[in-house]
Amino acid sequence: MQTLLGKHWHHLPAAEVVRLLDSNVERGLDRFEAERRSKHFGSNRLTPRQRKSALMRFLAQFNNPLLYILIAAALVTAVLKSVVDGAVIFGVVLINALIGYLQEARAERAIEALTQAMSTEAIVLRAGEQRRIPAEELVPGDMVLLAAGDKIPADLRLLRVRDLQLAEAALTGESVPVLKHHEDDLPEELMLAERRNMAYAATFVTAGQGLGVVVATGDNTEIGRISRLISEASSLETPLTRNIAAFSKLLLYAILALAALTFLISVGLYRHPPVEAMLAAITLAVGAIPEGLPAALTITLAIGVARMARRQAIIRKLPAVESLGSVTVICSDKTGTLTQNQMTVQQALGALERCGGGRACYTFSGLGYDPQGKVQVQDQAVSLADDAALREVLTAGALCNDAGLVLEDGRWNANGDPTEAALLVSARKAGLDLAALAAAHPRVDVIPFDSQNQYMGTLHTFPEGQRLYVKGGVEAVLQRCVQAMDAAGQPAPLDADAIHTAVDEMAARGLRVLAFARRDLPAEQTQVREGDAQGLTFLGLQGMMDPPRLETAEAVRKCQQAGIRVKMITGDHALTARAIAHQIGMIPSPQAEVLTGEQLARLSDEELIEAAVRTDVFARVSPEQKLRLVEALQARGNVVAMTGDGVNDAPALKQADIGVAMGITGTEVAKEAAEMVLTDDNFATIQAAVEEGRGIFDNLTKIIAWVLPTNLGLGLIILLATFLNVPLPVLPIQVLWINMTIGGVLGLVLALEPKEPDILLRKPRDPRASILNPVLLGRVVIVGLLVMAGAFGLYEWQILREAPLAEARTVAINAVAWIMIFYLFNCRSLTQSMFAIGVFSNRWVWIGVGAMVVLQAAFTYLPVMNHLFDTAPISALAWAEILAVSLLAYGGVELEKALRRRGR
Ligand code: ADP
Ligand code: MG
Repeated sequence: MQTLLGKHWHHLPAAEVVRLLDSNVERGLDRFEAERRSKHFGSNRLTPRQRKSALMRFLAQFNNPLLYILIAAALVTAVLKSVVDGAVIFGVVLINALIGYLQEARAERAIEALTQAMSTEAIVLRAGEQRRIPAEELVPGDMVLLAAGDKIPADLRLLRVRDLQLAEAALTGESVPVLKHHEDDLPEELMLAERRNMAYAATFVTAGQGLGVVVATGDNTEIGRISRLISEASSLETPLTRNIAAFSKLLLYAILALAALTFLISVGLYRHPPVEAMLAAITLAVGAIPEGLPAALTITLAIGVARMARRQAIIRKLPAVESLGSVTVICSDKTGTLTQNQMTVQQALGALERCGGGRACYTFSGLGYDPQGKVQVQDQAVSLADDAALREVLTAGALCNDAGLVLEDGRWNANGDPTEAALLVSARKAGLDLAALAAAHPRVDVIPFDSQNQYMGTLHTFPEGQRLYVKGGVEAVLQRCVQAMDAAGQPAPLDADAIHTAVDEMAARGLRVLAFARRDLPAEQTQVREGDAQGLTFLGLQGMMDPPRLETAEAVRKCQQAGIRVKMITGDHALTARAIAHQIGMIPSPQAEVLTGEQLARLSDEELIEAAVRTDVFARVSPEQKLRLVEALQARGNVVAMTGDGVNDAPALKQADIGVAMGITGTEVAKEAAEMVLTDDNFATIQAAVEEGRGIFDNLTKIIAWVLPTNLGLGLIILLATFLNVPLPVLPIQVLWINMTIGGVLGLVLALEPKEPDILLRKPRDPRASILNPVLLGRVVIVGLLVMAGAFGLYEWQILREAPLAEARTVAINAVAWIMIFYLFNCRSLTQSMFAIGVFSNRWVWIGVGAMVVLQAAFTYLPVMNHLFDTAPISALAWAEILAVSLLAYGGVELEKALRRRGR
């Protein structure tokens, strides 16, 4: 086994490959061998890219112009003033960097958890049975089955293929899918792209099926050798964080320039000693630059992503968190997303004359997948001997089927597609022996189901020759039929009108209707292609119930309240779609307009835009049309979330602002193209994610609105002091202290603010609007001015009362801290008062405020702090003044909010 590396697998004959790998095409590996190899080869996973060490990431915190200046300031202070002062500056800088480091690490952990949540699965043969296992567990020698939409989980030598096409862009850069084969005689020297009998890890199956044997796993795969890159590690950036980072940088340089100017004025105009002037300039820079802001925003996003994951929505691309808050339209699949995907056949149609024309007269008793039950006509048991067409409908359903039924803990469950499992149940209720049928008429070949064609066919051996059974959507099947079957099993004319009447009646009740047909083929035919599915004999119909999920109606209502349109885009029949849409309250009238794919195809782009906006239910839609619909909706400025699961859905998912893939039924291709994956395939989860998205955006806004006034206020204090040529009301080291405590302790509590009660009563946010609207900008400026006036005013007041300088400064810095603490209460909601959203609904606020009280008390009263930070104990009267000013500021902002609430 050690000698597997470096073999030219594409050059070796298939049989030789299987022999070398000591495997078996029919059985795969057995369990113990798989375990043994897993120990030997390790798990099938790429070693993560070497990340920067903790120390390097800590040092990176210092790579910032502001910190260079601070370190310089610490040195200058140490040399020219006192070593202790310099050391204090340096200590605080160090703690600031540590806080930054911890915050970054926390955000990265959250993102890493995301990447890990997205594991791929593979279908393998183990001990002769097909099993779905995590791709990480694959070992060399495993037999892997491939189907459209799969991600190739390891390097495979193909042994059998059927129209297998792979998109190999990840490996070769070539975006056009390549057709694979399993020939043996490829030359030894060949580029990867030309090795047609190989399927390499990280590429995708776009069409067809195949079987391959694993030849290399983990870092030994080609992709592992080319790059040690872990699967597109999600980045921490979103448009908003990028904008803020750019803004912060700009601000940084502007403030540094301003600081230089104050230095010049101080030295040139007022003849202050340069060291003192430099300290003032540094204080300005430290106070005015919001250097902690970008990290705070990133953490808020990371916390939001974790919150969404708890509600079953996995975010694959971080910017989606932001756009979720502005979604205006959600386009959802029906089956499994809005409905339970718990199918039960309720009605069937066989020979028309048995049911007296256009009615599906057979009904089935029993519940769920439990095969207890009977076929009846008006409560009378039916014998299949009376209706040959019905017998064939049920036989076709049983044979043209990839699903299974399993009895688990006394409960019958579907294994595979629920639609198909339901057909097994109905056949058993009618008394057909599934195992005997499958044994007597083995499947020879298959035309797989695809959502474009909407049918599936299987070829089976019968004594009189080969027989092709077809099942699928009514339109797709009926157009391929030329005749029908009567109750005696003889050909009968095809009465399409009567059939449509029966279909419409079932569909109007919300049943999902499948049509069945067959065709006899010569005994020597062993393969079927799409071209064979024509000239069919129509057999009959089965209609199955798929009840809406219990939570759907409520979720739809919430969306509508929140100004979000919900549209259903389904491959199912128009009337079925409309009935379900009505049941869940998506459309007010059971007669609402439904557009079918066929009608959509005839519309011009202009007309399509109108129709896409107006209509809520789209039926028999092909995946390509989903793309057109997304584009049409976006043309009207909508922010669109669109669901999808198949390979062909990828373009629409990419085009949508929020592509939503199904975690359970979705293909890897769809997941890869999506921004968000629903681990429970549930529509209500999309609604929950939108809700969370709005909450996160709210919190981002709150943080920005809270952080900026401190910086503005501190900046203004220093500028004013410089221009008025008075001693600085706050010292650089004190400003650093405030930065550290306020930024480190209080900066993040707003990220943990719960969603506000009215979050789903607002309209979606305009994605083009700036995060600080004029109202908030005004608030930031006013509070900034209040900080300046409060701190400066109280400082001068102390000086007037002839208090020592250290005491006056302690009052000033406490004024800044307390105004900001009270303003934090303001910022818990941008529009409501804290009492409306719940005083204790975010306990972190109180923990943070409690910590601030302790820190400020220590800062003011502890002798060692007095010594380090040049502070002094202050009087009770001074505290009263500080609190009064803070309360005044708090009340002012609340008054402004109240006036605006009334104005609305
Ligand atoms: P939806 O959009 O509701 O998920 P699908 O795209 O799954 O619907 O199915 C569209 C139509 O294709 C169905 O109405 C049904 O007629 C047909 N169909 C679905 N699954 C199968 C299958 N396994 N075999 C044959 N036909 C199918
Ligand atoms: Mg579907």
